[in-house]
Amino acid sequence: MTEPVLTRDVVIVGGGPAGTGTALALQRLDPALARRTLLLDRAEFPRDKTCAGGLIPLTLELLRGVDLDLSVPHVRVDRARVRAGGPAIELEAPGCCWVIRRREFDHMLLEAARDRGLDARTGVRVRAASRRADGRVALETSLGTILARAVVAADGAGSLLRRRLVDPDEGWVARAVMSDVPFEGARPPETYEFDFRGVANGLAGYAWSFPCWIDGRPHWNVGAYSVRRRGEGERLEGLVRERSEGVTERKAHPIRLYASGRPLSAPGVLLVGDAAGVDPLLGEGISFALEYGRMAAEELRNGFLRGDLGFAGYGGRVDRSPLGKKLRRLALGARLFYGPRSDLWFRVARFSRTAQRIGMNWYNGVGLWNPAVPALPSAPRGAPTGV
Ligand SMILES: Cc1cc2nc3c(=O)[nH]c(=O)nc-3n(C[C@H](O)[C@H](O)[C@H](O)COP(=O)(O)OP(=O)(O)OC[C@H]3O[C@@H](n4cnc5c(N)ncnc54)[C@H](O)[C@@H]3O)c2cc1C
Repeated sequence: MTEPVLTRDVVIVGGGPAGTGTALALQRLDPALARRTLLLDRAEFPRDKTCAGGLIPLTLELLRGVDLDLSVPHVRVDRARVRAGGPAIELEAPGCCWVIRRREFDHMLLEAARDRGLDARTGVRVRAASRRADGRVALETSLGTILARAVVAADGAGSLLRRRLVDPDEGWVARAVMSDVPFEGARPPETYEFDFRGVANGLAGYAWSFPCWIDGRPHWNVGAYSVRRRGEGERLEGLVRERSEGVTERKAHPIRLYASGRPLSAPGVLLVGDAAGVDPLLGEGISFALEYGRMAAEELRNGFLRGDLGFAGYGGRVDRSPLGKKLRRLALGARLFYGPRSDLWFRVARFSRTAQRIGMNWYNGVGLWNPAVPALPSAPRGAPTGV
């Protein structure tokens, strides 16, 4: 092995919301360990990410938990339209979603972590990863070899670190396709739409239209999602084409979904965000990325305090946490709503306004269903950190 160019206690690979979410939470929980942490991303920021950018309200609460406000351009959505056969369901739902652009949002998170002292290096690609006999992880990067006692794999749906160090299986992978369509008008509308009518024709997913600002101009972000990565490409493209007349540019990207029981850690390695798996029902992943980040930061703090970086209990702790419980219910929802009796479940969902409102509040993490996100405790003064 070549001589390492850097050694760090913690290396986070990936500067999306899962990576920066981990760094920001660690800065609150254990500032000393956060100063011994390095974040790497292959992209230069600001960078684009294929994503509709819809934030459920819980996301804003998670941001407040690390003292951040939504300081990038956004559209606040106050009304939802859901189409699932029969008349469209219209719901008044003030602040049910906040639509951002990932280029701006991810940059905001990265800069916030940097302002708080994070050593973040962009334009650095991790090409290979292996575990050494002394337990440390060796990352072969475009900078050279970097050694870490603990690595956080925040490198997205195709995570190289997950495949090399934790779980070679591809797992449950969804696909989403999107386009940005200019909107004729001064401001984007405050309504978003979910369209499940394709389920009746065998689509295991839905189409969406989200209002957004792009470079100061109002747009619709339109797209289509399927829990099946393969075999649905044409159908998804067709659904997006129907919603984006005159626009030819379409972007597709996988989303890795949560499957209870799949490994989320290995000695010295923690998976977060898409690398770990997100919402199977709608493909929402940003709030989950931040929630995983909080949990990973706690694992790191506790692991270094105890001198045990095996992270053996992380997967079980995620599964039993509110994050894991919600993901498991969403996986069940995906099986019911996109399964052979989907017509029955959509009829039930259409039937009751109260059920619709409760479902929406639960999904969005507001009201009774997700009590306020507990504040991240600060590190005890003078607490020893480091193995
Ligand atoms: C079309 C589409 C629409 C979506 N819409 C929504 C939505 O409206 N709301 C929502 O909540 N979620 C949405 N999602 C899901 C959401 O985009 C993801 O769940 C979220 O981006 C996961 O964040 P992450 O930090 O885990 O990964 P990412 O955001 O993918 O970040 C991973 C980072 O790792 C870096 N990286 C990868 N490999 C390496 C390497 N080898 N070396 C160095 N760096 C590396 C990448 O450059 C990237 O910056 C959508 C997804 C798609 C595809």
